[in-house]
Amino acid sequence: MTSDMLGKLRSGVRDVPDFPKKGIVFKDITPILKDGALFRASIDVFLEHCRGRKIDKIVGIDARGFLFGSAVAYELGIGFVPLRKKGRLPYKTESAKYSLEYGEAEMELHIDAITRGEQVILIDDLLATGGTSASAAALIKKVGGELIEAIFLIELEFLHGRDKLAPTPVISFLKY
Ligand code: AMP
Repeated sequence: MTSDMLGKLRSGVRDVPDFPKKGIVFKDITPILKDGALFRASIDVFLEHCRGRKIDKIVGIDARGFLFGSAVAYELGIGFVPLRKKGRLPYKTESAKYSLEYGEAEMELHIDAITRGEQVILIDDLLATGGTSASAAALIKKVGGELIEAIFLIELEFLHGRDKLAPTPVISFLKY
């Protein structure tokens, strides 16, 4: 990805102050999604990093992780696994509670979503405090997956979320 294209992607991230709570600056990616070239570039940046590697499954985090994760899995020809907010998955699940930059939540994964020993990559739009992805990592391991990397379009570096994911390698493309 050229630095010019990364710059264009960055300019597609809109800051929305005080959403969903006072004091939070929400990184809105809908300007990227609605622009064909930018949406394609936002998928390509993940793909350039993933192509040619041994990856068995992509796990995407509800809901914006689905947008990138499913497109990446489609292009790589591998399976996609949704990690969902509590109460949305119909079959037997493992679950984990976690805290967000702006609240608390619980995540679930189907118990048979990943075959023991499969190499898994976790994808979401944004890494903030790392609470969501750390619980996602715990769930992936609980169902037998080997989490080889967590990849985010955006990282809020000042919140040090990657420390919560250690020792899992963390990759991000737009850092703030
Ligand atoms: P965290 O668990 O704190 O790392 O939060 C990450 C999750 O919450 C991701 O699924 C993000 O989509 C969402 N999120 C947290 N903070 C923000 C923010 N400032 N702007 C946009 N999304 C956010």
